[in-house]
Amino acid sequence: MSSYITRAVTDDGSARIIFADTTKIVADAAAIHQTSKTMTAALGRSLTAAALMGSLLKDKDNTLTFQLNGGGPAGKIVCVSDYKGNVRGYAENPQIELMPNGAGKLDVGGAVGKNGNLTIIKDMGMGEPYVGMCPLVSGEIGDDVTQYFATSEQTPTICALGVRVNQDHSVKSAGGFLLQVLPGADDAIIDQLEANIRLIPSVSAMIAEGAQAKDVIDSALRGIEYQPFDEFDIGYVCTCGRERYLNALAGLPEKDLDELAAQDGPVEACCHFCNNKYQFDIDEIRRRKAEMQ
Ligand SMILES: [Zn+2]
Repeated sequence: MSSYITRAVTDDGSARIIFADTTKIVADAAAIHQTSKTMTAALGRSLTAAALMGSLLKDKDNTLTFQLNGGGPAGKIVCVSDYKGNVRGYAENPQIELMPNGAGKLDVGGAVGKNGNLTIIKDMGMGEPYVGMCPLVSGEIGDDVTQYFATSEQTPTICALGVRVNQDHSVKSAGGFLLQVLPGADDAIIDQLEANIRLIPSVSAMIAEGAQAKDVIDSALRGIEYQPFDEFDIGYVCTCGRERYLNALAGLPEKDLDELAAQDGPVEACCHFCNNKYQFDIDEIRRRKAEMQ
């Protein structure tokens, strides 16, 4: 079953919720990067957050880059989403494993670390990209995204993220939501949302138990009239290709090309996001460089 996003808004316009089931995306990421259980959760939560945030972009050539740099053993985690929530991502150290934390859960906070920042880069396809940054709260990622919205965006937002990994390392469930209070919101609705959030079980647990978007949204918006807004499929999508790498290599200074030429065999480039490998002959790179000048 494919991953998907469902969005809903309360009838009075006080709040909206963006829900994603990312089980298939996280399973694809785990297969590409051969992640440890803890890193399946860390990368999976990051991909889910990036997909949710990306789906709020306005135009089809907009992209959102989600970067976690917490100083922990996971190293940097980078995810990129398009405006529809299609994502790709990688972690510097996808195979590191940690002991479960004190609560018996996968220690995502320990892997990510909390001595650093969450950086969000929104590229609107023209001019300087928007860059927002906030210090990490816990490295558990959901809390960090909530904090990011509190400090960098005008919309008060709660982010919940969850990934469940089976004993055999397969992905049992993954998903999350952004619950946002919109300008001019009714105080009574805000009180109701706060009460609901205190009661809601973990998103990954709900998805693992077979919950669909409607079940999770019903829990978050309990007691509030709302309408589904839209729903669409999302996936793990890499945008790399041979041409893109050939152009990047052709853009290197002459000195670097001389160094590549001095090495044995073809020039190889590997995509961080999907692990596809591309091979080039140095003459091919030089021909492209000549064409570009
Ligand atoms: Zn790729």
